[in-house]
Amino acid sequence: MTEAKKLFVKTYGCQMNVYDSERMAEALGAQGYEQVDTPEAADMILLNTCHIREKAAEKLYSDLGRLKPLHEEKPDLKIGVAGCVAQAEGEEIMRRMPIVDLVVGPQTYHRLPKMMEALDRGERALDTDFPEEDKFAHLPKDRRAKRGPTAFLTVQEGCDKFCSFCVVPYTRGAEVSRPAERLLREARELVERGVREITLLGQNVNGYHGLGADGAEWGLARLVRALAEVEGLERIRYTTSHPNDMEDDLIAAHGDCDKLMPYLHLPVQSGSDRILKAMNRKHTAESYIRLIERIRAARPDLVLSGDFIVGFPGETEADFQATLDLVAEVGYGSAYSFKYSARPGTPAAERAPVDPAEADDRLQRLQAVLTEQQRATQAGMVGRRVRVLFEKQGREPGQIGGKSEYLHAVHVDGPDRLIGEIAAVEIVEARPNSLLGRLVS
Ligand code: SAM
Ligand code: SF4
Repeated sequence: MTEAKKLFVKTYGCQMNVYDSERMAEALGAQGYEQVDTPEAADMILLNTCHIREKAAEKLYSDLGRLKPLHEEKPDLKIGVAGCVAQAEGEEIMRRMPIVDLVVGPQTYHRLPKMMEALDRGERALDTDFPEEDKFAHLPKDRRAKRGPTAFLTVQEGCDKFCSFCVVPYTRGAEVSRPAERLLREARELVERGVREITLLGQNVNGYHGLGADGAEWGLARLVRALAEVEGLERIRYTTSHPNDMEDDLIAAHGDCDKLMPYLHLPVQSGSDRILKAMNRKHTAESYIRLIERIRAARPDLVLSGDFIVGFPGETEADFQATLDLVAEVGYGSAYSFKYSARPGTPAAERAPVDPAEADDRLQRLQAVLTEQQRATQAGMVGRRVRVLFEKQGREPGQIGGKSEYLHAVHVDGPDRLIGEIAAVEIVEARPNSLLGRLVS
């Protein structure tokens, strides 16, 4: 028997990249590659990259620089670059980085097996097309791969919204939804492999409009309700949503579909209408606040999360203050905030930037408020009873950890046999990044 070839995958960026990395590892698994935990142990290294902010893209080049000595030691080592930097800068990567053998975009990685044949012939391979075919339908699967109790499932990809700061429509391409029947089949397969919770993924996931089992077009609410019928699947989440695609039936599902978890990531980006307009967001601060009210009317205990960009070109102190006002009014359980990063090829990159020191200062002020809101939300959980899906052992001996329905990390003293199960827990203490609880019978 020949020894299995070893694959090391590093994933940068969003959950969709995590999902894509799993699919690429499965595709290469079907070609005899097994995954290892270090680049040193690998015959093939795949870096699945993110292009959303400049820093994220720079990481690729510094990591490639760091791989040079390893490549000198192991000249047969193959190095591949996948993801959104590969899509945006594929040819430049090939030119600047001779150690890179393969460049593959987010929409062509089902062609990896073919590309690997080229590598075996000693050639380099680049494929950053936007093909017609659905890559997921053409991916070889490795069904032996073990699964934990939670999984991602990409239901929609790409984006047609063209927010003026964002590269996603250029790197991921146009919005495409996968057929519901196929998603239901994949969900059933995941459940058979031990998955209890599925997070539906899409750059604009609530814009989902896939072909339904009945031949009609289904929105995300229809899909969620159909998934809720899958026996053994206990929890459904989805991310990331756009406020303009939050339809009535999806809001209603938050109120009456038990398996849909009470946590929602709904980015607003800014609280200033002037900036929202310049961002091409097509919603206002007021319409967002009214939307949140409707969602909370359907599910009062819902924990809300969001994304914010500070220092967008033209942002004044008054605009920034409007963002702080919106945060104070809405109240977030968790949130991500970023300093604006000019991305080549996007309309906002043409505009004069805000003074970087000013942007840094605003980011710190916003993060202080968001951290305080997060802390208060966590503290508010103390004394409450939640249901935790246990995923793994905790850091301390005898401890196990998982997530509550509100996506809070929760640790308890408990037996390993509960891993993969959902159990009732009373929260006894809020720590900075997690909650401590005790099992209740
Ligand atoms: N589609 C989602 C939406 O519209 O909310 C988000 C997609 S993006 C991968 C995740 C977040 O990155 C965005 O919500 C935004 O806050 C942030 N982001 C995107 N482009 C950025 C840029 N040029 N500079 C700073 N942050 C950015
Ligand atoms: Fe980017 Fe999201 Fe805007 Fe699409 S909706 S352009 S992914 S920020």
